[in-house]
Amino acid sequence: MKAFEATNRYIRQASQIMGLGSRVESLLLSPEAEHNVTVPVELDNGELAVFTGYRIQHNSARGPMKGGLRYHPTVDADDVRALASLMTWKTAVVNIPYGGAKGGISCDPKNLSQGELERVTRKFIQRISEAIGPQRDIPAPDVNTNAQVMAWIMDEYSRLHGFAPGVVTGKPLELHGSEGREAATGRGVIYITEEYLKDTGRTLADVSVAVQGFGNVGSFAARFAHEGGARIVALSDASGAIRCAKGLDIPTLLNYGRTRTPLSTYQAEGVEHISQEELLTTEVDVLIPAALGGVFTAEVAEEVRAGVIVEGANAPTEPEADEVFARRGIPVIPDILANAGGVTVSYFEWAQNIQCLRWTEDEVNSRLKHIMTSSYATIRNLVKSRNVSWRTAAFIVGLGRVAKATVLRGI
Ligand code: GLU
Repeated sequence: MKAFEATNRYIRQASQIMGLGSRVESLLLSPEAEHNVTVPVELDNGELAVFTGYRIQHNSARGPMKGGLRYHPTVDADDVRALASLMTWKTAVVNIPYGGAKGGISCDPKNLSQGELERVTRKFIQRISEAIGPQRDIPAPDVNTNAQVMAWIMDEYSRLHGFAPGVVTGKPLELHGSEGREAATGRGVIYITEEYLKDTGRTLADVSVAVQGFGNVGSFAARFAHEGGARIVALSDASGAIRCAKGLDIPTLLNYGRTRTPLSTYQAEGVEHISQEELLTTEVDVLIPAALGGVFTAEVAEEVRAGVIVEGANAPTEPEADEVFARRGIPVIPDILANAGGVTVSYFEWAQNIQCLRWTEDEVNSRLKHIMTSSYATIRNLVKSRNVSWRTAAFIVGLGRVAKATVLRGI
C-alpha cells in the first residue's frame, strides 16, 4: 500500500470512532500545499545533475508547519505527503503549537561530496524560500540530514530574508542550536519505553531490547536503553545486523556509529551476524524499529516475537501488519507518540531562538520528559478507556486537537 493511503487509513479509522463527519475529515486528509521543485546542481566534475525536491505542507490549523527534511533515493511525493501528515498528528499528540510538513530531496548523499551537498541544500532553499519561515514552516533534520545541513539552510534563508535562526531547527550549538536536540528523538523513545515498562511493573534493567537502525534515532535509543540497564541483544545498520543473547557491548558499538564503521565488520565473541529480517523477528521484550518506513509487512508481523514495539522510525508498520499485531496482541506504540521527542526539542530550540534565550541541557531534558510522559499518560488512558490500539488512541487525540482548531478558526 502506498504510504499516503496508509496514513489516511489510520485517519479514517480514528475519525469514524470519533464521529468527526465527512466535512472535517476531508479537510484533515489533504495537504494544504505541495511544493515540487527541481534542484539543478553543478557537480565537482563539472557535470550538471538535476534532483527533485519536495516540501509538502499538510496542515497549519494549530500553528506554523513543522517537520524534517530527508535526503534519500527513495524520496517521492507520496512518501513526503505521508510523512507531512504524520507531522500534523505528532505535533498535536504532544500538544506543541505547530502544524505538520515534510521535505525531501530524491538524491543519494553517499554519492555526493560535502561541497555538492551544500550546493544541493542551498539551491533547494532558494527554490522554496518564500514558502518557509519562522512563522510559516520550519524544517529540521531527518534521514541523512544533520546540523551542518541545517546551518546551510539558516544561512541561505538569512541571506534572502535577513537573520532568522528560527527558520530551521536542529542547528549546531554554535549557531543558535539547542542543547539536547541531537539526542532528543532517541531519548524520547526511551522515556516512552520506560513509561510502558512501569505500567507493566518492570524497568529497563528487566528487559532485552533489539534496535533496527543505527543512525541518529537508533544510536541514541540504544545508548539510553543501555545506560538504563537494558540488555541490547540485537542491532543493525544499513550494512547488516548483529545479535548476542548475553547483550552487545554498546559503548564499543557506539564508536562504530560515530566513525561510520559498518556493523557488518564487527567481530566479538558470542556475536552472530544475522539478516535484517532475523533482527525484526528475534525474541525480545522491546523491539525498536529506528530506520526507514515500511519494514513491518504482514508477513514479517506474523513472525515478530516482541513483547512491545516502540516506533522510533516514521511509518515502519504497514496497515496490514498493524492488524496482524492487533490480532496477535503485540502492542505497538506509534511513531506519532514514540518518536515525538525530536520535534518537541525542535520546539524548544525555536522558542529559545525567537526569545533570544538559551536553556541548559537539564532544563531541556526535564521539559522533554514532562511532555513525553504526560502525552504517554493521555494516550494510555484512552487505550484503556476506549479499548482501542495505541495507534488509534494517538490518532484520536491528534485528530481531536486539529479538528477543534480547524472548526474554531473557521473553514
Ligand atoms: N524529522 C523529525 C521527525 O520526523 C523531527 C522533525 C522536527 O524536529 O521538526 O519527527
